[in-house]
Amino acid sequence: MDYFHFLGIYPYFSYPFFIVVNKTILHLDLDTFYVSVERLINSELKHRPLLVGGTSDRGVVAACSYETRAFGVHSGMPMKMAKELCPEAVVIRGNSASYSKHSDIVTEIIKEKVPVFEKSSIDEFYADLSGMDRFFGAYKYASELRHTIIKECGLPISFGLSINKVVSKVATNEAKPNNQLKIDFGYEKPFLAPLSIKKIPMVGDKTYQTLRNLGIRQVKTVQQMPMDVMQRVLGANGKVIWKRANGIDHTPVIPFCDRKSISTERTFDRDTIDVHKLRGVLIAMTENLAYQLRRGDKLTACIAVKIRYSDFNLYSKQLRIPYTSADHILIPKVLDLFKILYNKRMLVRLVGVRFSHLVSGNYQINLFDDTEEALSLYQAMDHVRKRFGDRSVLRASALEAKSIGRIQNPFNGQPPVVLAHRKQ
Ligand SMILES: [Mg+2]
Repeated sequence: MDYFHFLGIYPYFSYPFFIVVNKTILHLDLDTFYVSVERLINSELKHRPLLVGGTSDRGVVAACSYETRAFGVHSGMPMKMAKELCPEAVVIRGNSASYSKHSDIVTEIIKEKVPVFEKSSIDEFYADLSGMDRFFGAYKYASELRHTIIKECGLPISFGLSINKVVSKVATNEAKPNNQLKIDFGYEKPFLAPLSIKKIPMVGDKTYQTLRNLGIRQVKTVQQMPMDVMQRVLGANGKVIWKRANGIDHTPVIPFCDRKSISTERTFDRDTIDVHKLRGVLIAMTENLAYQLRRGDKLTACIAVKIRYSDFNLYSKQLRIPYTSADHILIPKVLDLFKILYNKRMLVRLVGVRFSHLVSGNYQINLFDDTEEALSLYQAMDHVRKRFGDRSVLRASALEAKSIGRIQNPFNGQPPVVLAHRKQ
């Protein structure tokens, strides 16, 4: 018992309630990732305007080099329009397998050097460097990490370092291309103030227009506004945007874990040998899991299929694949695995599908060779599913599986997915 307690006095300052420990959060982002990988493979593409995406006239730009941006080209625009704006650009069909490979190489380096990191997309990482002695120590560490990645992978990468994820991400974007930026503690607001409101993560085209219509152009203006005004105009998002504009963000770095997965399995009431039916169930499961991925803005890089025979022996097989969440890529791979696995002419008691190695990302990555129509088809199907239920749109071949119940979004902190488990 200390002196104060001995006297029966409990001075509040004897408790460390008011000590605020600042975090040190690093954000790393590979510069024009797809473009950089293409240049690594073919050095003749260096310094030339480059478009990566669907190569047909109906394709979409997935990534574009800095040289093309001066012409008004941006990712997501129709390839045809991009070619018109920048006719001298070299157009390359994207290759998700090679991007996934290079993404994995970078991930391995970061995994070795940083204890707590989050892989937030195929080319983006957050790391919590809090507690690395002093801030300078963290900055030096981050610089060395960045140079190691550049040296070992040959890919340009930028970083931002600050007290939270949002400020670091904005700092990275300001640092680009191929550079780094540290925002010292206490300088978050002045750093953000002169920037366009568009640079705040979460301010998309629509929000930007709303804010512009209100005469808001710079972050500074939002900083000077009361929070509830923003909330009144933009609802709950307004509050978040106001906080971000003021450099406030408490979201934690979510550790990257290879075992992060979603899965589903189905035990049959009566063991079956009907291959047609088994395939139908697997297709339905895959379709549903892929939809879960897209709903959570996730991609998978590893699929597994398992079978339990009537003698209770369990067999499973997994396969690493390029990051994807597209049914038309996943379904054939699941069926291939099933074909390899199902080699006994024996009754089957259970089948299951699992997707793991999940990262955040958009399924556009797989549609390099597809058209805007293909993109909007996926979007339209998922829209119907959102409104009318998971099984409202199905492949005809998936109709075999009559019972996949409505499930929760596994990326909303809801319980893990166990679907297709209903007895038939
Ligand atoms: Mg990037």
